[in-house]
Amino acid sequence: MNILVLNAGSSSIKAAVINPISGKRFLELTADNLLDQPTLQFSDGTTTPLSKTGHEHALKVCLTALEEKLSDTKLAGVGHRVVHGGEAFDGPVRITDEVEGQIAALSPLAPLHNPVNLSGIRAARKQFSDLDHFAIFDTAFHQSMPRRAKTYALPKELIEQYGIRRYGFHGTSHQYVAQRAAEYLQNDLRNLRIITCHLGNGCSVAAIEFGRSVETSMGMTPLEGLVMGTRSGDIDPGLFAYLREQSGLSTNEVETMLNRESGLLGLSGKSNDMRTILAAATNGDPDCQLALQVFTHRLRKYIGAYTAVMGGVDAIVFTGGIGENSAVIRHRAVQRMDYLGAVIYEESNTAIQLTEDQPVGEFHVRHSRVSLLVIKTDEQLAIARDCHKLLEKADEVNTLPVIPVAVSARHAHLTRATLDTLYGVGYELTVKKWLSQPGQFAAEETITVVGPRNTIERVRILGPLRSKDQIEVSRTDEFFLGIDAPIRESGKVANTPGCKIIGPAGSVTIKDGLICAWRHIHMTPAEAIQFGVQDRDVVEVAVGSPDRPVIFGNVLIRVSDQYKLEMHIDTDEGNAAEINTGDEGVLTLTGRTGTLRKRRVENRVV
Ligand code: ADP
Repeated sequence: MNILVLNAGSSSIKAAVINPISGKRFLELTADNLLDQPTLQFSDGTTTPLSKTGHEHALKVCLTALEEKLSDTKLAGVGHRVVHGGEAFDGPVRITDEVEGQIAALSPLAPLHNPVNLSGIRAARKQFSDLDHFAIFDTAFHQSMPRRAKTYALPKELIEQYGIRRYGFHGTSHQYVAQRAAEYLQNDLRNLRIITCHLGNGCSVAAIEFGRSVETSMGMTPLEGLVMGTRSGDIDPGLFAYLREQSGLSTNEVETMLNRESGLLGLSGKSNDMRTILAAATNGDPDCQLALQVFTHRLRKYIGAYTAVMGGVDAIVFTGGIGENSAVIRHRAVQRMDYLGAVIYEESNTAIQLTEDQPVGEFHVRHSRVSLLVIKTDEQLAIARDCHKLLEKADEVNTLPVIPVAVSARHAHLTRATLDTLYGVGYELTVKKWLSQPGQFAAEETITVVGPRNTIERVRILGPLRSKDQIEVSRTDEFFLGIDAPIRESGKVANTPGCKIIGPAGSVTIKDGLICAWRHIHMTPAEAIQFGVQDRDVVEVAVGSPDRPVIFGNVLIRVSDQYKLEMHIDTDEGNAAEINTGDEGVLTLTGRTGTLRKRRVENRVV
């Protein structure tokens, strides 16, 4: 099976024909300098000069040439890289006329990118009209960012009216290298906190906590964050007005300056190419030296900040042309980070030479708690794999069983030692009500949870006792208590906040254990096979009436033969979506939702 991956950018068109399983490339095509003297370059060594400049013309010639070269090769589908997916897309989708319309509607958010991406889609859908086409969005992976990370502190009305928020980009690359890092570390991505540094012409950092992007440095546009080849990255927004007033530059001119004349190019006055900057800095050029210092200082700042955001870090990954190739930049970015457990091994750092066969290198000392990795990114392969997955799903009909939904109230799981202190040594819990999950019960006993701001009384204890204390509250409870608890799966309490809890016989201050439960579905191994999922997969569920379902993304699968099929959401989510215990949901098949039924079932959770 081969997938054609097309990246239609404003100044270049790149295409590759890839086998998504082996990763083998059958053919690659690049058309650079579309605005100047364009030439088509094929990986088979042939080149074709284009008679005219301009995007439309280049697309037509590229696609016709590809079709001719591929006359003996069967394509299974076409994957299109699309820069901005806005709020609408949190994963890859099959392209329909409606999807085209949605991508067009997002153009104001990415005026330099989405319209040219769309021209590529339209031209390719015409040229390869019998194939399925898919859109893979740069923003999609970052849709999981929590609201606090997505939100700019601007007037609420403006945010709502103009869809202003942080979206983040380079998502395909961040996701791909994070997954490769987990494979290299022989661990599950969902156990790791990873900082990925994509350093190419555009640069961004992402904080990936247990598989989900929770922060990234690019924002509403790709201008925010790190210093890049020609983009400034973070600046004081006050500068915009100041520059306009002082220099008389128009809005367009300021924008062009920030996007195309700043960054390494602006600071050095020489080049946007890191190789040139490094060489000149070594030869004593003070402007290039400063450009390098500003570049790496900003990067270090983000690494430190993202470690704080995740409450620690297990691996820092470098990728992109600079990240993969420059030992100097890697050194400057992570030297003196022993305080956070990352200890660089200089010899490995300088020796790393990534190849197709060896796409991962490590450069930490053996006792470093944090792994330092260099990983070759491959966005084209990631896109081809996403297309492959969607193609496999294409013919499935959603006959999956419905999933009962239960709204969980705040509750506590306690250890023997904690119960001894709160209720007296050897105290046994009294069953108030058996819960749907076998062996689990709501106890008569409750505790009081004390936060720095307020106290919540009568928090129900759930039995049986556990090996770790864990208190599960909703977002609203967190604000009431005054504690910022992360969204976590049950049992994952490392690096979570603690609090004081009180019972009739005493009180305990637990060191950690306060979480906002990650919405999840309990199921048996047999049901997991039926649904085609595995323990700790993340899925999407449509709940409520078939006409107007509420889609819950980011739903965690929990599999055990002790479980009974049920989805748990917290009270905030239930209230917001007007969902009650007893409603039902279905797992959506990628890109579409199945039929929904609504049936009352017995209440299951207190
Ligand atoms: P894009 O973001 O366009 O995909 P790349 O990921 O190819 O770009 O990265 C381009 C950047 O990588 C350029 O700044 C280039 O100078 C830099 N680069 C490539 N090789 C090296 C190297 N050996 N040392 C330092 N920088 C390098």
